Amino acid sequence: MKLVVLGGGESGVGAALLGKKEGYEVFLSDKGQLAAHYRQVLVERGIEFEEGHHTEARIFAADVVVKSPGIPDALPMIVRLREQGTEVISEIEFAGRYSSARYICITGSNGKTTTTLLTHHILTQAGVDAGLAGNVGRSLAAQVAEEAHPVYVVELSSFQLDGMFRFRADIALLTNITPDHLDRYDYKFENYICSKFRILNNMRPEDLFIYSLDSEAVTQHLAGMNVVPEQAGFTYGAGEGAAAWMEGNRVNARLGNRSFSIDKDEISIHGRHNVYNAMGAILACMRMGLSDEQIADGLRTFPQVEHRLETVAVKNGVKYINDSKATNVDSTWYALDAMTAPVVWIAGGTDKGNDYSALFDLVKEKVKVLICMGIDNAKLVMDFSPLCTVVDTTSLEEAMRAVRRYAVPGDTVLLSPCCASFDLFKNYEDRGRQFKEAVREL
Ligand code: ADP
Repeated sequence: MKLVVLGGGESGVGAALLGKKEGYEVFLSDKGQLAAHYRQVLVERGIEFEEGHHTEARIFAADVVVKSPGIPDALPMIVRLREQGTEVISEIEFAGRYSSARYICITGSNGKTTTTLLTHHILTQAGVDAGLAGNVGRSLAAQVAEEAHPVYVVELSSFQLDGMFRFRADIALLTNITPDHLDRYDYKFENYICSKFRILNNMRPEDLFIYSLDSEAVTQHLAGMNVVPEQAGFTYGAGEGAAAWMEGNRVNARLGNRSFSIDKDEISIHGRHNVYNAMGAILACMRMGLSDEQIADGLRTFPQVEHRLETVAVKNGVKYINDSKATNVDSTWYALDAMTAPVVWIAGGTDKGNDYSALFDLVKEKVKVLICMGIDNAKLVMDFSPLCTVVDTTSLEEAMRAVRRYAVPGDTVLLSPCCASFDLFKNYEDRGRQFKEAVREL
């Protein structure tokens, strides 16, 4: 059997390793250049590959093609492969075919990484041998090939879900759905929603679906499927009526005849969105049979996640927070909502057609200065000037100079850009790291 892997990043190289182990004749093809360490792995394992181009004759001879989630389904080569009857699948689908582990799969527009890492932390802290895969850490295929675990917690993007057909989750967790990536879904929100719901494919009655009752797109879609949302699975939400809910400062959960409760301030990560993420993780871990103490322990000891409301330092009485991963309005809404001190807010970058009006009330209430950091800040300046002091800067250095000028003891400086990073930085990680470096140098 011939396996062709398109794309030589973490997931592609993982799929190639697993294919080799399972006896496939493997060929990996990447249109760009491979990172040196991936090239080395392929050479060491004797896996054939090419970079800088795709040799179509070899690709079209495949029995199975594993495609990187970055390659769109609409690419003519992919369309033609499917037309000729070649299976084109994702790395997760491929890995799932060679493992009988239990899968906890997490998707949604926001909160995937945090919920995945938190669930994984609670499980491993409790002694469960669980692997972490998907968009985070080592690829699932590489782990199945070389360090198999009986349980995996897997973060799934909609692009990965699009390449999944027979894969079955034991627990599927859907955090929320808001419009995103519409350029890959014919600009139709409904197509993107359907892609997220692929996480339910092949689930059996005894498997568990956990989702947020407060996500309108999710509950409406379920209603359209003629499923009463409360009966589709286990829900979490701000109010009662869900399987996990908030009551004053308590986060409560009930699953079958078991209940669990913890004070929200005991959970190591803060903000309303993280209460949601914690509720999802709590339900998944209750289902996995963990004790109350084990769950509470994991929630208390979960380390900060880099670039997500990450406290960098307190300097001269000013707290610095890096939320560089907030690349859309919804994320920044939750960041501002979580702030308890006067905010010096750094925002800006590549605007993806943002409508900032959802932030106006929070900005009026909490932000004293907005420091715009981007090549073109015109829209931010126009929208927020009536609400707070606005400073226009075009580099991180300039922005940090403004920080020194405006931040006083008791303030919080929040980098929560609301925008993509590509105008001034390589990506959101680069932006977050440069900000942290600049804070350390203050
Ligand atoms: P994802 O992996 O889905 O991009 P992350 O866990 O990396 O999500 O969080 C990214 C940003 O989204 C965070 O910085 C935060 O501002 C926001 N966020 C996190 N969880 C949620 C949630 N449950 N609902 C809405 N926004 C969230």
